[in-house]
Amino acid sequence: MSIADNLKKVSERIQKATEHAARPVGSVRLLAVSKTRTPDELRAAIAAGQTAFGENYLQEGLDKIAALSDTPNLEWHFIGPIQSNKTRAIAEHFQWVHSVDRLRVAQRLNDQRPADIQPLSVCIQVNVDAEATKSGVAPEQVAELAGALLEMPRLHLRGLMAIPDPNLAPAELRRRFAGLAAQLEALRERWPSVGPNCLDTLSMGMSGDLEDAIAEGATLVRVGTALFGSRQ
Ligand SMILES: *Cc1c(COP(=O)(O)O)cnc(C)c1O
Repeated sequence: MSIADNLKKVSERIQKATEHAARPVGSVRLLAVSKTRTPDELRAAIAAGQTAFGENYLQEGLDKIAALSDTPNLEWHFIGPIQSNKTRAIAEHFQWVHSVDRLRVAQRLNDQRPADIQPLSVCIQVNVDAEATKSGVAPEQVAELAGALLEMPRLHLRGLMAIPDPNLAPAELRRRFAGLAAQLEALRERWPSVGPNCLDTLSMGMSGDLEDAIAEGATLVRVGTALFGSRQ
């Protein structure tokens, strides 16, 4: 199967799941997770119509952004853990960050986002499994962090992101997705008059569980393996 074939299949899965959930066509975006993939593999996806790519590791992402700088209108999303000494390059080169999980990182991204480009779109990563070892803010701390981010002029708080434990039984996984959706809804109720491009995104669902995520309201699914094949 080619990357183009895979992209078609994944797009069909997304469309079916969207219809099944009685949600509007086009309400779920596909983020192609391109960690470990070569620029040529990305070019194959681009040729098939994909424009948004997610990278986990800063240097690898920067290398690919440079390698593909001849291609207009690509959108780069940083989705990996963030060290605070790496925020400047993220703020300068990416359009989105899905993995904001502490105030200090948000402040640095806000301060370092160049003034001549649009605000950085960010999601708060939520630890929905309550495991101390995983990244993400605890659910009970989401509202406080969200309130702070909404005050930052160089950030657009788009919404919430989670990576539930992939070993969970389907029903449990589904509950995690529903929980994240409820959290976003609570933020929207608390801040009903945020501008456009704020609190409009639920980043959840990957290759193996995108249907469940869409059923629970995902607006953006992050898919690697199903597009590019399995990683080493
Ligand atoms: C790798 C990764 C994905 C993609 O996972 P697949 O199972 O390959 O689709 C999605 N989100 C994050 C944060 C990742 O690190």
